[in-house]
Amino acid sequence: MFDTVIVGAGVAGLTAARLLHAAGRRVVVLEARDRVGGRTWTDRAPGFSIDRGASWIHGIDGNPLTGLVEAFGMPTVEFTVGSFQAGGRPIANYDEAHRQLDAAATDAWLADAEEVGARLAAAAAASGPGESYADVVERVLDELGWSAERAARARAFHRHRTEEQCGADGAEVDAHGLDEDAIDGDEVVFPGGYDALATALAEGLDVRLEHAVTVVSWSESGVRITTATESFDAAEVVVTVPLGVLKAGAIAFEPALPETVAGAIDRVGMGTFNKVFLQFPERFWPDGDYAIRRLGADSVPWHSWYDVSAVSGTPMLLTFAGGEWARRIEQMADDEIVASVLDGLRPIYGGALPEPTGHWITRWGSDPFALGSYSYVARGATYEDHDLIATPIGGVLHLAGEATWGDCPATVNGALLSGHRAAERVLGTSIPLERLVAGD
Ligand SMILES: Cc1cc2nc3c(=O)[nH]c(=O)nc-3n(C[C@H](O)[C@H](O)[C@H](O)COP(=O)(O)OP(=O)(O)OC[C@H]3O[C@@H](n4cnc5c(N)ncnc54)[C@H](O)[C@@H]3O)c2cc1C
Repeated sequence: MFDTVIVGAGVAGLTAARLLHAAGRRVVVLEARDRVGGRTWTDRAPGFSIDRGASWIHGIDGNPLTGLVEAFGMPTVEFTVGSFQAGGRPIANYDEAHRQLDAAATDAWLADAEEVGARLAAAAAASGPGESYADVVERVLDELGWSAERAARARAFHRHRTEEQCGADGAEVDAHGLDEDAIDGDEVVFPGGYDALATALAEGLDVRLEHAVTVVSWSESGVRITTATESFDAAEVVVTVPLGVLKAGAIAFEPALPETVAGAIDRVGMGTFNKVFLQFPERFWPDGDYAIRRLGADSVPWHSWYDVSAVSGTPMLLTFAGGEWARRIEQMADDEIVASVLDGLRPIYGGALPEPTGHWITRWGSDPFALGSYSYVARGATYEDHDLIATPIGGVLHLAGEATWGDCPATVNGALLSGHRAAERVLGTSIPLERLVAGD
């Protein structure tokens, strides 16, 4: 008999498990995959780190991950372009004619981006229920009355912003969907791989891999958690499976989840966001730039290539597909995707573009234990809906995970904080987050 069953060995589940274990609870973690980490997943097969899931700490100031990764001895490298910004760090921007913007043109573009950003914040604040992010972008562009080319550049930039930040298209995202998108301080990545965090959190815990949960039965006197081969009885359960898994009904809740929780699960969106890493024989892009970016209407579908050579230790560009395009590439063969990405770069580099020597492509939407990449405020939903998903049920059933943390959904820190909150609710007392580090 266990006190607590934790479903899912991602950052949320492992955080809850570790804090409860440290408080003396008998805890077991049931994980469907053959590894821990969930959507933090480092592929080391090529001899260097490829983070197929999360890469960044999106702002190290005031972020609970900052101290934790330091305590766990995880090396970081500053790489402040992880959120979709127009500037802040050197980006080689290319115009509609595929010429690199000079300093004056870059300043003009950044001023435009800033102006649209400020007006968007006001337009979102004044938006009506059910209006989308794309709606408010259009309203702002109407107000500005810019030339077609200037407006198209701003429109494309904001299109890519929701694709990257939400894994969804602007028409799918609520007008408020990027309200919480603040970055405090530098962003950093992990040359040794992000999944070292999950490995450290899992140390000393009873984690059962390849244990896909199919049924969660609950009553006020306890829970029974069922996998294909076993059942686990406990006083309470913390379910941390991704929102996509909850939406698909892959776990049966008996009795069904109350409407407060089920309604919020329906309203919050699950986005799709995929990564394409291309390894090259040499760096053919300018030194010192964090990213190569195409601007304007032709920047579809590929627009930004991030230089992650410092992470992998080999010449490497990383590009992203989000929303509808991310869902489409999951149906394409690898070679077709690589050729398509190169077609996006060729107008800039022409014959100087070498053939890649390696590629790594993710398909998170088709992954049965994720069914998407991360959650977002879908049209008509609110940030409060994220937190409603975590409403305690019958004093014994708690949901956690990035999708349940309204302050910063879609992040590793959101997952961590949601696991912390679940552990506190189980114990009915506050727990210092520092307890995550062994010996504290
Ligand atoms: C491509 C990509 C890039 C990202 N980039 C960033 C980034 O740069 N920075 C950032 O902060 N965040 C990023 N994120 C988001 C971040 O990875 C997630 O928010 C976070 O890892 C989620 O943690 P979690 O514990 O909530 O969920 P998960 O990590 O998904 O953990 C849930 C676990 O439940 C398991 N599970 C599923 N079904 C079952 C079942 N039936 N039974 C048992 N177990 C089950 C899963 O296998 C998984 O291990 C990215 C995500 C993706 C996909």
